[in-house]
Amino acid sequence: MLKGKIAVITGSTSGIGEGYARALAAEGCHVMINGFGDKDEIETLRQSLESEHGVKCLYHAADMTKPEEIGDMIATADKELGGVDILINNAGIQFVSPIEDFPVAKWDAIIAINLSSAFHTIQYAVPIMKKRGWGRIVNTASAHALVASPDKCAYVAAKHGIAGLTKTVALEVAQDNITVNAICPGYVWTPLVEKQIPDTAKARGITEEQVKNDVLLASAATKKFTTIEQVAALAVFLCGDAAENITGSLQSIDGGWTAQ
Ligand code: NAD
Repeated sequence: MLKGKIAVITGSTSGIGEGYARALAAEGCHVMINGFGDKDEIETLRQSLESEHGVKCLYHAADMTKPEEIGDMIATADKELGGVDILINNAGIQFVSPIEDFPVAKWDAIIAINLSSAFHTIQYAVPIMKKRGWGRIVNTASAHALVASPDKCAYVAAKHGIAGLTKTVALEVAQDNITVNAICPGYVWTPLVEKQIPDTAKARGITEEQVKNDVLLASAATKKFTTIEQVAALAVFLCGDAAENITGSLQSIDGGWTAQ
């Protein structure tokens, strides 16, 4: 049922966002990808999505800290791909520090990229979805939309904000055939996480296996990472017919972290 739908996915040049793009293209969606990275690698990704799935794929370089660039990204999807049916807010960054030393610039950047960008994309996309009489908005939140960890004040505040934005907009568009939900992953096995493991092991004088189990998976009851494919499959489900009456929800996919 998603064949021919048009999806815009922020922060989709790597990790979870790339996973969403691959999964939606595999369902037959035309996709607009976005994010930073090596130009050639992004072009390779764009071409592979087109050739592997027979869909159209455009790349837009909008910086999620810049509302006018976000507006141009949504307008370009509308003009060049023919609309916006699915919006996946995913771009995100992290910074870890106790609050006394937390740099103001890092706070501002995290709030802009992880929270305010979703306000802007949604504000631009909702009128297009209303016109088309159908829409699906999926916000990538985090287990940190539900619980906190020390030294992540901006990230946790932004993700809790995403939860509130999700619920509020869901109510506003509930009768327009548009659903708005958030996905709340625990640790996801992305290149970003994988790369941290040897350094953390070195810094703490423990084995890589101990870093995985005792540091990263300390809160996960299953002691398993969530995979990119599992998060993407949940997004595909939320975009499908079976999820028509799921809206304003926060979907945990965290190995039991927030059950505790
Ligand atoms: P990642 O670093 O692999 O991907 C982040 C993406 O955002 C990249 O494409 C990057 O280019 C893009 N991006 C960063 N700043 C941007 C900006 N200013 N404008 C446009 N794009 C920008 O990270 P990931 O692990 O795939 O995380 C993706 C999302 O999932 C984030 O919102 C993150 O908070 C959330 N999340 C990740 C995990 C995890 O364990 N990896 C867990 C829970 C939630």
